[in-house]
Amino acid sequence: PSVKNRRLSLAQEEKLSRDMRELYNELIPTPESEQRRSKFLAKLERLLSDRWPNSSIKVNVFGSTGNCLGTLASDVDVCITTDNNELSQVCSIAELLASQGMERVVCVSRAKVPIVKVWDPELQVACDLNVNNPIALENTSLVRSYVAIDDRVRPLAMIIKHWAKRRILNDAALGSTLSSYTWICLTLNFLQTLKTPVLPSLQAQPGLQPHILDGVNVAFEKDLTKFADFGRKNTSSLGKLLYEFFRFYAHEFDFETTVASVRLGGHVAKSVKGWHMLLDNRLCVEEPFNINRNLANTADDTSMRGIHKELRRAFDLVSNGKLDECCEQFAYPT
Ligand code: ATP
Ligand code: MG
Repeated sequence: PSVKNRRLSLAQEEKLSRDMRELYNELIPTPESEQRRSKFLAKLERLLSDRWPNSSIKVNVFGSTGNCLGTLASDVDVCITTDNNELSQVCSIAELLASQGMERVVCVSRAKVPIVKVWDPELQVACDLNVNNPIALENTSLVRSYVAIDDRVRPLAMIIKHWAKRRILNDAALGSTLSSYTWICLTLNFLQTLKTPVLPSLQAQPGLQPHILDGVNVAFEKDLTKFADFGRKNTSSLGKLLYEFFRFYAHEFDFETTVASVRLGGHVAKSVKGWHMLLDNRLCVEEPFNINRNLANTADDTSMRGIHKELRRAFDLVSNGKLDECCEQFAYPT
């Protein structure tokens, strides 16, 4: 049989699921690391309110600290909500934190969303911080809801993020590949579009009132009790789902014509969104709320080919039950 039709034997599937459980247990944050993160957040709150005692300042977590997909190695993503305009000039925060013992302080004030990056040597925590970015809090809450619906989502998504990190496929800023968030959306959309889906679309539920925030509709179904049994009809093991994930994106999904949409819980033709003219945008992944945003536009043609090759490599290895080798650290040829 051709490589793309390679089947997983039952014994291989069971071994793969066992290996995934074991890897998952290594990836989930320890109580000790959770404690360091909480201490860091309390410290940050204290530093900010000591410096700006008359402003209302709230420290919110988003990203993997807020969506349950953080690993031991994840940074803490913080969004400060405040009415004080001085803080929107993120460099004023950078100055404060640098003067209070934080290290590797970087202020990226010209980015679309200005951020400060810091490393806390005392608590050993890395943090990315931005100000008044409510959409990020909403999409974090959306991801967290999907994670809560079916208990296979968390291990599957964490392992896919881990694989992407090891293969250097998730550095949107540096390597012009895809962000963790993009890999998460690809995972959720895969689970929504299976013949027997594991996840619904929380945004495509009947009777949802639009909720407009920063010009986009962030409404989604918050009552998850409706979906308590949603994934039950799909009885696939974790191993089977990982195998299907790689098979789908390596050999089935049409990168040229199709957009992955978590919002619709399905696939849309690029032409429907007017994205077919964007020739260099090969993979298209719609941001669930900001639907004009293609999350995959960080990867150019060359890196897209590299990503596709890595997906095929992962499928070959996983279909032989080789999880360790699949997630092996990529080493640049010397
Ligand atoms: P990691 O564990 O690798 O840090 P993460 O879940 O924090 O993974 P990131 O890619 O660092 O994922 O993204 C953090 C958060 O930033 C996402 O949860 C999302 O809320 C927000 N985000 C990232 N990219 C975008 C984007 N293009 N548009 C809107 N929100 C985004
Ligand atoms: Mg993060």
